Amino acid sequence: MSKSKERRQEITPRAKTKDALRKERDLFSAVIDTAAVLVVVLDPQGQIVRFNRACEQVTGYGFDEVKGRPFWDVFLIPEEAEAVKGVFGKLRAGQFPNEHENHWITKDGRRRLIAWSNTALLDDHGSVEYIVGTGIDLTERKRGEEALRDSEEKFRALLEYASVAIIIVDGHGLIQLVNAKAEEVFGYARREMLGHPVEVLLPKRFRHAHVGLRGGFLANPRPRPMNAPLDLWAVRKDGTEFPVEVGLSPVQTRDGVLVMSYLTDITERRRAEVALKESEKKYRRLIENLQEGVWAVDAEGKTTFVNTRMAEILGYTVDEMLGSPMSAFMDESAIVLARQNLERRRRGIREQHDFELIRKDGTRICTSVAASPITDDDGSFIGALACVADITERRRAEVELQAALRRAQEVDQLKSQLLSIVSHELRTPLTSIRGQTTTLLDYADQVTPEDRLEALQIVDDEAERLDELISHLLDMSRLEAGTLSVELGATDVRPILIESISRMAAHAPSHKLVVNLPSTLPPVQADPRRVVQVVSNLLDNAIKFSPPSAIVSVDAEVDADAVRVRVRDEGPGIAPEHLPHIFDRFYRVEGPGVRTSGVGLGLAICKGLVEAMGGHIAVTSQAGHGTIFSFSLLRAHGM
Ligand code: ADP
Repeated sequence: MSKSKERRQEITPRAKTKDALRKERDLFSAVIDTAAVLVVVLDPQGQIVRFNRACEQVTGYGFDEVKGRPFWDVFLIPEEAEAVKGVFGKLRAGQFPNEHENHWITKDGRRRLIAWSNTALLDDHGSVEYIVGTGIDLTERKRGEEALRDSEEKFRALLEYASVAIIIVDGHGLIQLVNAKAEEVFGYARREMLGHPVEVLLPKRFRHAHVGLRGGFLANPRPRPMNAPLDLWAVRKDGTEFPVEVGLSPVQTRDGVLVMSYLTDITERRRAEVALKESEKKYRRLIENLQEGVWAVDAEGKTTFVNTRMAEILGYTVDEMLGSPMSAFMDESAIVLARQNLERRRRGIREQHDFELIRKDGTRICTSVAASPITDDDGSFIGALACVADITERRRAEVELQAALRRAQEVDQLKSQLLSIVSHELRTPLTSIRGQTTTLLDYADQVTPEDRLEALQIVDDEAERLDELISHLLDMSRLEAGTLSVELGATDVRPILIESISRMAAHAPSHKLVVNLPSTLPPVQADPRRVVQVVSNLLDNAIKFSPPSAIVSVDAEVDADAVRVRVRDEGPGIAPEHLPHIFDRFYRVEGPGVRTSGVGLGLAICKGLVEAMGGHIAVTSQAGHGTIFSFSLLRAHGM
């Protein structure tokens, strides 16, 4: 019997279980196809007999494409081919199972690293019939491991070369890891720190408390950032202390929670802070000592800084001003102006402006302000800074200077007026006097007694005119110098008025002088002599400027505060354009048809006298309808 015959004979008894066998094979196929591992079955020649789905997925080949081909032709990379063939040879020689790792090349040329567990199936005679390889694709895992190793290395480098000192301690506070910066900062070599309690790095006085703090942190391990405003100190190997800033972070590991502390030596920063504070103090002192006010506002116009001088200028305290808007100290129009000035200043135009500021008590103060905008690094407007000088005094001085200048000009004018008056008004009566006396002397034997009398009368009149002129000039100069004295006392002006009028009546027999006074007048504060002078002057003018037989009347009225005396005439009146100047010194109404005599001092003296007695003088007049001069004298309540 041939060998094949024998076999067929052997198989025949099993024929009835053929179905069962197929089922078993199908089940086997299904199982290896579902397996996540690669399963490849080879014949002793290395040809692929079976190739499961996982193999198809990993390699990209379908089973049909590789069936019957030696696996080394399809999958092996040249540099590994010999070694793998060696492994295969051993398997075929009965050395199994074995394990090894090698690469397979996929259909699209990528390499996959596969860990194989191999075994062989023997036939009934004990010869190797099939070789079965079961493989796991390690490529991803390897890649993951490499990535992990890579990131571990990076992390280690990060720690090692970090610019902050890093110290990792375990749950007992023992140092597990330090980086290079920690060595540098503390002055210890790494091995001197590792395994020691972290407290050795603290000044002795803090060590005990730190053990407690450490416990607290571990009980509730949360990252604590570095910016905590704590006054923390560390100590170097050489015993010197230095200020530090410390951040903490728990690190979960398989062996429990570790604490990573990262710390920075802030000696330099502290020094810089102190220097900054010092320079701030210096500038603050400088600003405080300025004679000028310094005022800063933010973009909304709220006060963010003022020095003491600024608050003093406005009558506030510094605290009262801080936070207040500009509108508390300036009118809206001034704020608008200030904003415009700032805009110009931004464009580089440097100016100083006078501003009226409002003080706490509501009064206004003149100031000179030089303001500059404040901008941030991007150039956006964030506020303004102003230097403010109180110029009230300067203004007052300016006003006084102006007044002095005006006075000087007036004095100048007065001088020239005086000269022309002296030359004219003094000379005219003098010429007249000399004319008369010369005639009397030269023709003494020819002059009749009547002529002599007439000449002497003229001399007398002119002398009186001169006398009046001189006394007016004297009174005026005293008024100017402020040396004209009035002796005020409670005075009954009624008899004074009556006496003055009757004296004037004697000199002006052709005029009708009318007195219209209440039967009594309350006492006024006045100097009787000066009242006579004022009334005589007004009556003299009234008579002088009104035609003979015209009425000149004097009346008086009383109100709560004063007695008002009025002198009224029926003369030509005074044109409206002259009225505002009628009380000015040397003011005379001149022109065609206007009679002028005198030097224009009478009314100026009247005004000076009435005002010196605390009263007021006024005029109303209409050309052609006469003139009313009135003056008031204050009632002498309780005098
Ligand atoms: P004087 O001392 O020279 O009389 P006054 O100061 O008394 O000068 O008067 C100034 C001017 O006012 C006079 O030149 C005159 O033109 C005008 N004046 C004063 N009183 C009257 C009046 N009652 N009627 C019209 N004009 C008057």
